[in-house]
Amino acid sequence: MIAIDLSGRRALVTGASSGLGRAIALNFAAAGARVGVHYLKDHDAAEAVVAQIQQAGGQAAAFGGDVSQPAQVEKLFADVDAAFGGLDILVNNAGMDGARELCADSDPAHWQRVIAVDLQGPYDCTRQALKRMLPQQRGVILNITSVHEFIPWAGYSAYTSAKAALSMFTKTVAQEVATQGVRVLAIAPGAIRTPINAAVWGNPDSLRDLDQKIAMCRLGEPDEIGRVCAFLSSDLASYITGTTLAVDGGMLIYPDFNHGG
Ligand code: NAD
Repeated sequence: MIAIDLSGRRALVTGASSGLGRAIALNFAAAGARVGVHYLKDHDAAEAVVAQIQQAGGQAAAFGGDVSQPAQVEKLFADVDAAFGGLDILVNNAGMDGARELCADSDPAHWQRVIAVDLQGPYDCTRQALKRMLPQQRGVILNITSVHEFIPWAGYSAYTSAKAALSMFTKTVAQEVATQGVRVLAIAPGAIRTPINAAVWGNPDSLRDLDQKIAMCRLGEPDEIGRVCAFLSSDLASYITGTTLAVDGGMLIYPDFNHGG
């Protein structure tokens, strides 16, 4: 039997107090990793994830910080060093889509905030992670992008631009470190049931509309992303780097075309 084994690995998952980050942290712990559950503000929710991991026999600790603030990122990684003695896996998961604003009417400050969280944050975290991973010649960095690294989304140009840029950042850094034991990958989730899109799946009409955009005709569950992240972080995926894996129930295969063109 092939099993995902992350025992002995030290992982940090940003934005892990909710949604996909929480599911990724739980799957990492179930595979044996020691997990840093990072949060922005919701300390209690992060501690609840830590408690859930510990109750199941795993190891975890909570770490705070705003990923868009380089000084806070530096402190975050110093805190992880102090607790875990280093890092083997980073998941740049923290992110936001921002308010819906068409470009012509948009507020530059809102645009820059999304870029700071969704692109600058992963850049700073990756820089810090590589300082730890390259000397040990071992590490995996997973960047959570979105199907919107491929699909335009009116009103969310900051989000789509940040996610597309994060995809190319992934490939470029993967190329830089490929011979040094570090793999860098992106995962592009489709529509997954989390707080970020609760307004959509909480409304039957918008949910029906969204389901039609997915070949499998249903939303994904956070665990379906968490399991893939655990696999990609493990040695089972040892020959995969510098690419994006879509985990989207077939959103990118244009289900509208299933009845002819
Ligand atoms: P979520 O809102 O539950 O998670 C986002 C997390 O990021 C939260 O925990 C939040 O506190 C954290 N965060 C936001 N700004 C931060 C900051 N400045 N510093 C530190 N942390 C910050 O939603 P989610 O769906 O779990 O989103 C996780 C990631 O998945 C995001 O990058 C999102 O773009 C991506 N994604 C989600 C979906 C989906 O359908 N849910 C689809 C594609 C991509």
